[in-house]
Amino acid sequence: MVRKLTATAALLALSCAPQTQVPMKVRALVLSSNGAYEPTEVELKTVTDIVSLEGKVARIQGNAILRLASTDPEVQAAQTEEALARAMTKDEGRSITASYITDPQGVLWPADFHTWNLVTTYYNLERAWDYFTNVVAVPQAELPQTTVHYFPEFVLADVSDQPQRDNALFYPPLKSFLVLPFDKLQKAPLATNASILTHEYAHLVFNRRVYGGSALPAPLNNWAQSGDFTPGLNVIKALDEGLADFHAYVASCQDVKRFGCNTRVLAYSFEDVAVNERDLATPRCMGQLMYNNLTRSSVNVLPNLAYEVGTLLANALFMSTTTDAEKQTMARAIVAAYSDTDAARPGFNQLAASSLNDQTTFTLIKAAKAIIQHIPAGNVDLRQKVCTNFATRLQIPVNALTGNTEYDCPASTTTTTDCPAINLNP
Ligand SMILES: [Zn+2]
Repeated sequence: MVRKLTATAALLALSCAPQTQVPMKVRALVLSSNGAYEPTEVELKTVTDIVSLEGKVARIQGNAILRLASTDPEVQAAQTEEALARAMTKDEGRSITASYITDPQGVLWPADFHTWNLVTTYYNLERAWDYFTNVVAVPQAELPQTTVHYFPEFVLADVSDQPQRDNALFYPPLKSFLVLPFDKLQKAPLATNASILTHEYAHLVFNRRVYGGSALPAPLNNWAQSGDFTPGLNVIKALDEGLADFHAYVASCQDVKRFGCNTRVLAYSFEDVAVNERDLATPRCMGQLMYNNLTRSSVNVLPNLAYEVGTLLANALFMSTTTDAEKQTMARAIVAAYSDTDAARPGFNQLAASSLNDQTTFTLIKAAKAIIQHIPAGNVDLRQKVCTNFATRLQIPVNALTGNTEYDCPASTTTTTDCPAINLNP
């Protein structure tokens, strides 16, 4: 009898598990052209197990308990990145079980709320991965499978004893994405929002190239020690945030059949004020207060500074790129500028490494120059537009951008009247 029951259970398990063939046709929640999230038929191209939602891009893990406390003896004893991750992982959780209903056309419909959320999360990460590997041409080997902790109990004990909620983020100490439970957020769940997940995936790419994939990047660690005067930290955080928004925008333009180009990365998940503050289509200028804060204060005391400067940078890039070809060339140039060992045009990684002991030498000027120098030769119009917008909107001195190689801004570069000049030595 026991054997017969076991056999029946095995049969049932088989019949519950839809066959996995690539690509899989499923329904996910996708932003449509009318601005609503709708159940939409999509293809998952990289999933190898549709029930546990595992594939080339991501592996989803549920119910983990993740806790970081500076007083935790296990955390204090950790000497390596791997040991820290182990110390933080109080329970690694287990793979999830998605359930589906198959329609007559063979399309899988999520059968419960979590499956809708999970399938959409995988789909959004797959599209972000597709954007970075195909549109931006990052080698697939640089972007292997990443763990996604789904609805973990995530406690940052130095901040609060309560588990964190209402967020979806890339978390370098665990080299994982975290999709946290909802609490107060009433709008589209963050993991459902393709632009937000692309922004987070862009942080993973930035981490890999600029910080060599480090769980605790040395520039962030070293520079954060300087309290309320962290000019290098301010710039590198602004680059990370602003360029993540620009990537989310360019990636959204790939999806012309649906919602299309989205300059409002936070739209449909956050309130209008926050959405508008990050809209990269709104013309922006470096003002005196922002400049003073960037060069003399700290993201430690002004947590919004990285987003304000980042959105300004993203706006300058948005203003400089009109055609699809320009957007793609720019996205590739940005990722090329993340790391380049060529001493004639060093990347952010190398600039940060040489400024580890003096963050005042990691400046927005050098970062802007690195971006321009990675626009391939021959893109004369694009380079000219970026040079003009960086000089005008970011207030980068023209003579810091010009030079005599084909990668520099041309000597003819000038500013426009779009932004009033500020005092760079107040
Ligand atoms: Zn971010």
